[in-house]
Amino acid sequence: MTAKEFLRKILFIEILKGMALTLRRLFSHAVTIQYPKERRPIAPGFRGQHALAKDSEGKAKCVGCGLCATICPSQCIYISREKGQVTKYEIEVLRCIYCGFCVEACPYGAIVLTENYEYSDYSRDAIYMKRDKLLSNWDKYMPGKKGEEYFKKFWRPMSEDFGTPSGQATFRGKR
Ligand code: SF4
Ligand code: SF4
Repeated sequence: MTAKEFLRKILFIEILKGMALTLRRLFSHAVTIQYPKERRPIAPGFRGQHALAKDSEGKAKCVGCGLCATICPSQCIYISREKGQVTKYEIEVLRCIYCGFCVEACPYGAIVLTENYEYSDYSRDAIYMKRDKLLSNWDKYMPGKKGEEYFKKFWRPMSEDFGTPSGQATFRGKR
């Protein structure tokens, strides 16, 4: 131990520094938010409760292709189709890790992660998301142009990502 370290120890320098910091903070503005009366702004791209998107006519966009269920790392999406109709679309939300893969994998822009984070409950069943609930979430949390803006802003790949970059040589075949 050096002489400097020894002096710091016997003079309780670190403790005094800590107490000085506490004293300074004692009179500064509290950062605590009085939830639920006060709320912090939601960060852009926040991944909250799921919703199934609807088209301009109010119909569900999901065709039940199953890509989202296939890519889901938690395997918590369950889909059934009968005679070309989606008969079941369910998400076991408690297993979801909010990775957003389902949104990115969907070729139809049919599923989104909304900004809603207030859906805690006392039973597992209440949190289990069935198709009707997922569709009603679209109306509730993605009104007007919000859904469209959501896809444009945060989710990739989009159709323009597959365009040919300018200047890239392309195959034209025989003339
Ligand atoms: S966010 Fe991720 S874990 Fe959750 S349902 Fe979608 S793919 Fe599965
Ligand atoms: S949400 Fe998209 S990827 Fe999933 S089943 Fe429906 S259309 Fe397919």
